[in-house]
Amino acid sequence: SIYGDYIKSVIRTVPDWPQPGVNFRDITPLLQNSAAFRKLIDSFVHRYQEMDLDAIAAIDARGFIVGAPVAYELGCSFVPVRKKGKLPFKTISQTYTLEYGQAEVELHSDAFRDGDRILVVDDLIATGGTMLAAAELISRSGGHVVETSAIVDLPDLGGSQRIRDAGHSVFAVCS
Ligand code: IMP
Repeated sequence: SIYGDYIKSVIRTVPDWPQPGVNFRDITPLLQNSAAFRKLIDSFVHRYQEMDLDAIAAIDARGFIVGAPVAYELGCSFVPVRKKGKLPFKTISQTYTLEYGQAEVELHSDAFRDGDRILVVDDLIATGGTMLAAAELISRSGGHVVETSAIVDLPDLGGSQRIRDAGHSVFAVCS
C-alpha cells in the first residue's frame, strides 16, 4: 500500500514477548506518532471510500483503534467483534483453535442486516485464526464480507493465505 514502508518503520518488534521465541509487533509507537496514525487511517479510507461499505466490523481490542476512525470517515456503522462474555445483548459466537486451547469471538445478533457489505479490521494477521473466525461469524449473521484487513500481515505464518483459501480477500497496509 502507499504508506506501507513508512508504517512498517514506525512499528516496533519486541523479541521474546509474551514468551520466548515470539517477535511481538507493537503498534504503540505508530499510535503515538500523530502523522503516522493519520497516514494509517488514510490508507484504509483511500482503499475503501468507493466500496460502498455498510459497516466496519472491528476485532477486540486493537482492531477498534483502526476501525472506529475509518467508520467515522467513511460514514458507515461500527460493529465490535468481541471476545467471549463482553457483549450484553443476544449474541452469536464462533469458537476457534489457538496454538494451545480455544478462543471464542462474539457478535450481537442484530449487528447487521442481511446482505450488508462488511469490512473486517484487526491490527495483525498471524495464523489467521482470529480473522477467519470473525469472517465466519459475520457470514453466519447474514453479512457479506467484502474484505478482511489488518495493519500488519505476517505472511510467513500462512494466515493470510489461509484466509484467501477460505474465499476472502485480504488487505494489509504492510507485511
Ligand atoms: P492469529 O489469530 O494467529 O492470526 O493472531 C492474530 C490476533 O492475535 C490478532 O487479534 C492480534 O491482535 C493478535 N496478535 C498476534 N500476534 C501479534 C503481534 O505480534 N502483535 C500484535 N498482535 C498480535
